[in-house]
Amino acid sequence: MNIPMLDLKAEYELLRGEVEPAVLAALAACQYIGGPNVKAFEQESAAYAGAKHAISCASGTDALLIALRAIGLDPGDEVITTPFTFVATASTVVMCGAAPVFVDIDPKTFNLDLAQVEAAITPRTKAVVPVHLFGQPVDLDALRAICDRHGLKLIEDAAQSFGADIHGRMCGSIGDIGCTSFYPSKNLSAFGDGGLILTNDDALAAELRVLASHGSRVRYHHHVLGYNSRLDEIQAVILRIKLRRLDDFNARRRAIADFYNRLLDGLVETPFEDGIGRHVFHQYTILSDRRDAIQKALTEAGIACAVYYPVPLHQQEMFAASHGQVKLPVTERTAQRCLSLPISPMLKDEQVERIADTIRQALT
Ligand SMILES: *Cc1c(COP(=O)(O)O)cnc(C)c1O
Repeated sequence: MNIPMLDLKAEYELLRGEVEPAVLAALAACQYIGGPNVKAFEQESAAYAGAKHAISCASGTDALLIALRAIGLDPGDEVITTPFTFVATASTVVMCGAAPVFVDIDPKTFNLDLAQVEAAITPRTKAVVPVHLFGQPVDLDALRAICDRHGLKLIEDAAQSFGADIHGRMCGSIGDIGCTSFYPSKNLSAFGDGGLILTNDDALAAELRVLASHGSRVRYHHHVLGYNSRLDEIQAVILRIKLRRLDDFNARRRAIADFYNRLLDGLVETPFEDGIGRHVFHQYTILSDRRDAIQKALTEAGIACAVYYPVPLHQQEMFAASHGQVKLPVTERTAQRCLSLPISPMLKDEQVERIADTIRQALT
């Protein structure tokens, strides 16, 4: 039997008894836009995250774009972020007319190296966008202190870390604004696209809502250039059901990671947890000088695996003109040695054993 990266089929079988009648009821209710499930999900997700406001939108990318617009980025402004992330973390900065400034990562956590952030700050820097990569929280207290010293906004990209926390404070609820994604591979996922923006600031919350609905405070009166970015009623139904299982699912991800750690100890570099917060293992990512051999053996055994991310953002063609000369050695080396293994709440212990056995055979 093949092992996928993420077993959405098994998850669907688990949830279908609950999801199917709820989706059918929403279809019959015919309130497809801004319906009761969207409003209820915003309230429930705000309560879950411990944030005063939750504004739903169409995707994690839109959440970032709208958040960056809400803090008033101007052309020429700079935003410090990580090069080791999904492209949307930085492409949204460019969409606002500003420039991403990439800082190298910590070799163990793969998160932004906070020791290097301060040196990258210039008079044009307006914000820092940390990513809690693979589900591991960034040290936001340390980062907040840096931002406060320099008058910068802190926008969390929590697309991979919904449900992770730093001593009880949820990722996404700690920065000035937090953004998350419900893309089907994320820890809390919809059956399509969706996103959420969190903030504790009333004025920012109002601005975020305006930007997500065509720049309109009063219907048919448009104050600023906005977007049509909405969470669908059907996706909200599904997300409400899955939000109730998120902590259990994340706990299972942590248990699988522990099991992998024991089985792979001494064979590869297993994920390092710095203990800043609770890691929710969106990805379980190992490091090895023999990464390519492991990848080949797993693929031949019908086991999915993936390199997140093969090309760091500063080396992407889209940033070649602005960043072609930038060298970020830790990121570049990590991109050559990293491999993400299957992880999902549905993964069985026997499957973890089979994956570890395949890796052991490839290396011995
Ligand atoms: C998935 C992801 C996004 C984008 O979310 P979408 O919902 O796919 O638009 C942004 N940042 C990171 C770190 C992601 O993993």
